[in-house]
Order: sequence, then C-alpha cells, then structure tokens
Amino acid sequence: MTAESSLHQLVANGVRDLRPYQPGKPVEELERELGISEIIKLASNENPRGASPRVENTLRDCANDLARYPDGSGFRLKTQLSAQLNVLPSQLTLGNGSNDVLDIITRCFVESRQGVVISEHAFAVYGLAAKSVDANLAIVPAIQFGHDLEAMREAINSDTRIVFIANPNNPTGTYVSQGKVEAFLSDLPDHVITVLDEAYFEYVRPFGVNDYPDGVALLTRFPNLIVTRTFSKAYGLAALRVGYAIATPEITEILNRVRPPFNVNSMGLAAAETALSDSDFISQCVTENAEQLFQLNQALVDLGLTTIPSVANFICVQVGSNASKIYELMLTEGVIVRPVGNYGLPEHLRITVGLPSENQKVIATLRKIISHLAEA
Ligand SMILES: *Cc1c(COP(=O)(O)O)cnc(C)c1O
Repeated sequence: MTAESSLHQLVANGVRDLRPYQPGKPVEELERELGISEIIKLASNENPRGASPRVENTLRDCANDLARYPDGSGFRLKTQLSAQLNVLPSQLTLGNGSNDVLDIITRCFVESRQGVVISEHAFAVYGLAAKSVDANLAIVPAIQFGHDLEAMREAINSDTRIVFIANPNNPTGTYVSQGKVEAFLSDLPDHVITVLDEAYFEYVRPFGVNDYPDGVALLTRFPNLIVTRTFSKAYGLAALRVGYAIATPEITEILNRVRPPFNVNSMGLAAAETALSDSDFISQCVTENAEQLFQLNQALVDLGLTTIPSVANFICVQVGSNASKIYELMLTEGVIVRPVGNYGLPEHLRITVGLPSENQKVIATLRKIISHLAEA
C-alpha cells in the first residue's frame, strides 16, 4: 500500500471524500494575477460600506491588550444582544462566525449515519458540517429555487436529527414565509432540531416583505428551534468572524459543551458590541441595499437576463450555459462575482449588491461581455 492510500484509510468516514468550501476569489489574488488595482469584489455578500466608522476606534483600543485571552463567555456582547433580542444571555451561543455555530450544532446533535435534511441550492456549509460527522444527507429538490418545506417535512424519518433552513437562502436570495415556517415547525417530531439560518435577517426587513418570519419570536413556541445570525453581513465585520445562535437555555447549555474555549477573539467581541450599538449605520446600509438591489435587478432584467427574486444583498442571475466563461471574462475586467455551479446552478452567477458605482460597473461589464459573446 502506498503512503498516500494508507493515509486515506486513516481519514474519518465523512471527511474522506469531503470537498472544502470554495470561497469567493480574494481581491488581492486577482490583483496579483492581473497586475491591476481597481478591482471590485461582489462575490461574498459583504457590506460594501464596511462596518460602522466607530468600530475603528474600538479596534485601536483593543490593540493595546493583545496579550490577554478574550472573555471566553462573551459577557458584554451577550448582555447587549440579549437586551436587543429580548432573550436571556443563557440563550446565546457565540461563534467564530456563524459557520462555527453551525458546525457546533451539528456535532452536538448528529452521529454517524444519522440524518440531516437540507434543500437543493442551500448554503454549502450545511452539507459540509453534516458530512464531516458522517451524517446521511438528504437533499430535497427546490421549488422555484427556494426551500420546499413541505417536501423537506416528507424527507424527515426516524433517523433525522437536524433540518437546516436558510432564510433567506444563499445563493438564491429566496425566503420562506412565516406561514410556511410555522406550519413546518408545528408538524415536526420531537427528535428533530430545526436550524433557521438568518445570516441576512437585517437586510430583509425594509423590503415591505411582511410575511418574513423573525425566528427569535418563534423560539417560545418551538423549543427545538435554533436561530443563527451573524455580524459578517449587514454589520460589515466578516473579517473578524462573529456569529451566534439563539435557542432555549437547555439547547444553549449543550452547544456550549462543544464550543471551543475563546472561539471569538477580543477584537471580534468588541467590534460586534460597537457595531450593534450603531443602529443608524445599519439602517442606512440596509436602506441603501434595498434601493440598489431593486436597481441592480432592474438593470439585469434590462439586459435580457432572468433573475431569482431576492430579499437579501445579492442576486442570482441566469446568464446561460457560458456562465463560467462570463465569470472569467468579468475577472479580466476586474470584477469578481460568484459562479454557483457547485450549488447546482451552472447557468447562474451570484452578484453581491455593492456601492452604486460598483453596481454600475458590474452592469456595464456584463453588457459589454454579453454583446461581445453574441457577436462572436
Ligand atoms: C454568509 C453566510 C453565513 C455567515 O457566515 P459567517 O461564518 O457568520 O461569516 C451563514 N449562512 C449563510 C446562508 C450565509 O450566506
């Protein structure tokens, strides 16, 4: 046996055939490749305005105290979150981004060969977390690119332990309504935990969408529900990695058994506290996003393309069978978007809503490329 194949045998079931998460292309990498500096990245759904300007001072203060371990309990951030969300601090689990929380949840509740149910086109991290514990993954066909909660209910059996629902979903931008979520949760057997991933929660509100559920408000009625949120998107702190789960104190106590000590660093904690307290900044960002999303969508439609209706800060647009070619050509023009073939959407690209100037550039670039391809 070769060294490589014997190592292969050592790898845990589930991890053996795992493919790592594919992040959006970093700006610096494209800068190196192209030798140009004016690059726009609309590939990872980050806040184009960055974080609240107050965060900079917070971080400067933190920089004086780097030798100390962070507060492993996240006391101050949890106190602030609990007041804002109207839950107890004992209902909060902090994570190194909500990815960390999703992973912790999976490790707490799923054993080898037990079941995890997700939707087709759902956020990739659920499948990774499930496979890494050697779970059986049931992938339920989507309905109009969104989660089909009725079909997901049907996919649940006696071995199922977790159902992941991304609301709204990334990369499609679709959401499931209050009525559908309530009907789903009301009809679940006791051995199933539902994870409602609300990474884009802050963005959905101002669309006049009034049937988007607030997962936290459902917690009192559905004790097997876990809601996850993050500071990576609307709060503009993706680099610092802070996310959290809200659940009953009983579930939270279990999650904290597995949570690595000091999984959220001091700068992340302090920046999240500051970001949370600057509600004006968030509402400005969220309002601008709503306007820009509308315009970007309209401009894509005007190019003759079909979009998936989105309530988040990104749009999945069908550009056709040459999507990867279009993606590559956009890179050469200094525009990074996200191919989503690995999400079962080989003809789509996902475009994050950027600053107005960035959105104009992405449209101009797409228009140019599409007309070139049409002539060729
Ligand atoms: C971006 C994203 C997350 C958040 O990831 P972090 O680890 O908090 O940065 C979680 N769920 C979905 C659906 C996302 O798109």
